[in-house]
Amino acid sequence: MRTRMVAGNWKMNMNLQEGVALATELKQRVTNPGCEVVIGTPFIHLTEVSRLLEGSPIRVAAENCADQVKGAYTGEVSAAMVRSTGATYCILGHSERRAYYHETAEILKKKVDLALAEGLRVIFCIGEVKEERESNRQNEVVAAQLEGSLFHLSEEQWKQITLAYEPVWAIGTGLTATPEQAQDMHAYIRSLVAKHYGEQVAEDTTILYGGSCNEKNAAELFANRDVDGGLIGGASLVADKFCAIIAAR
Ligand code: PEP
Repeated sequence: MRTRMVAGNWKMNMNLQEGVALATELKQRVTNPGCEVVIGTPFIHLTEVSRLLEGSPIRVAAENCADQVKGAYTGEVSAAMVRSTGATYCILGHSERRAYYHETAEILKKKVDLALAEGLRVIFCIGEVKEERESNRQNEVVAAQLEGSLFHLSEEQWKQITLAYEPVWAIGTGLTATPEQAQDMHAYIRSLVAKHYGEQVAEDTTILYGGSCNEKNAAELFANRDVDGGLIGGASLVADKFCAIIAAR
């Protein structure tokens, strides 16, 4: 059975007190969601928010982890450290990390392996930039991202992966992919997964859409057969909006 999911990505927003206040409100309001609900927070929130959400259906994700196990890597946070906070997910491959922190497919492959080895589930982001969409290369870009960082995984490991298709031109821009564009890409991604892991595994793989998904367009996007939910940036910072998106799923 495919898991439906709405995941928030707070990015580098909110100090600890603000984050705790938002998580507290979400805990009160999200008591019986019809899908898996995850909030991705900055590292500094993970312990307190995880503790706060004990007994709640909301799961907690880190937005990144290191590509090394441990040691002299000043400022880095390992997958084991993330796991020790109580977080159970890690978002990897976000386009902002690829673009601003030069995370290559090879680096992301290492991060995925380390996160899975620590028992974290991974929400892995893929998606093309505007020029690639304009030159109709979105399929090859996404295929290469999957090939480069994920398709070495065993079938057992694959079950810990949630994919998030996030066209980069839609992230934080107010430009959402049309429901048709999202459905076409999600169906294509599922076909690639089927080629590597078989039809059943592909059927069971959760593929989220991300990119200016909000309380107004979520229902229309989620109505598509291969769109299993959303990875939400800006709208996940406002409880009313995030709750409305969860209700649309
Ligand atoms: C994101 O950064 O993952 C994202 C989807 O952002 P936004 O919803 O703000 O476009």
